[in-house]
Amino acid sequence: MAIVMDGKALALEVRKNVKIKVDQLKEEHGTAPHLVVILIGNDPASETYVSGKEKACQKAGIKSTVIRKQETIESNEVIELINNLNNDSDVHGILLQLPLPKHLDQNKIISRIDPLKDVDGFTFENVAKLALGKPGLVPCTPLGIMKILEKYEVSVQGKNCVVIGRSQIVGKPMASLLLAANGTVTICHSKTTNLPEVAKTADILVVAIGKPQMVDASYVKPGAAVIDVGISRIDGKLQGDVDFDSVSQVAGLITPVPGGVGPMTIACLLENTLSCYQKIMEIKQ
Ligand code: NDP
Repeated sequence: MAIVMDGKALALEVRKNVKIKVDQLKEEHGTAPHLVVILIGNDPASETYVSGKEKACQKAGIKSTVIRKQETIESNEVIELINNLNNDSDVHGILLQLPLPKHLDQNKIISRIDPLKDVDGFTFENVAKLALGKPGLVPCTPLGIMKILEKYEVSVQGKNCVVIGRSQIVGKPMASLLLAANGTVTICHSKTTNLPEVAKTADILVVAIGKPQMVDASYVKPGAAVIDVGISRIDGKLQGDVDFDSVSQVAGLITPVPGGVGPMTIACLLENTLSCYQKIMEIKQ
């Protein structure tokens, strides 16, 4: 039976450390880090994520503001809002909750966020830094996964790492981080042939597809570390992309859903907000 990697407990540790640092910095500078979340439309999943982020900020002593805009908002209005937040010295982090309504050009809008305030690490500048192995802001979900691997002493160097999913927010940055940690990385997607065979070569298997319980034991090498990023709501219950019951019989380590990657994503958002604040304060001095 696999060891269950407890992302929830690790997230609490990370959040506690963020709070200690935030309290110190508040004393030093007299202001708290401030995260602004832009929420466009009424997607129920986005509403839930945003309220989770707000609560986590509050507990860590980080000020958070949610700006809600209607689904019909035009691109230029969102860009104007972002420009104002970029220029507001009281704002240290800007998060544009995704997905955006279809008529808005996601990449174009994200690219207008000041890279110094880009808590999600999605701007071209931060994506390029990650690809080049330079320090910058790293997307929260893959960053959280690297921390889980570190906590459970899963060394990446020289290991076969397979990432299923090539999205901008999870799969691609995940692959970059594993490569930077000297893993031998394969990226799979919907056009990959023989997916179970490729997945089975992995010492570390990261699954970010969005297809509930698709990955069963036939995809998993005995003893592998399996990270389940997927979140789907089925009959009101959260389900991952990995069939936990069968895979946990074969894997060496596995993250659960819920309680694995999700809580670490939020913890890393707080860390990134803190990093933005520190960097902005450094520049000011
Ligand atoms: P996307 O829909 O953007 O990307 C999904 C990826 O999976 C694509 O690259 C797609 O391939 C690939 N894919 C789809 N079907 C298959 C298949 N049958 N076989 C192989 N590959 C497939 O999703 P995200 O990356 O944004 O999210 C993935 C999952 O992770 C979702 O469930 C999401 O809710 C969850 N998530 C969880 C987070 C957390 O904190 N735990 C944070 C972010 C996301 P192709 O490119 O060819 O279309």
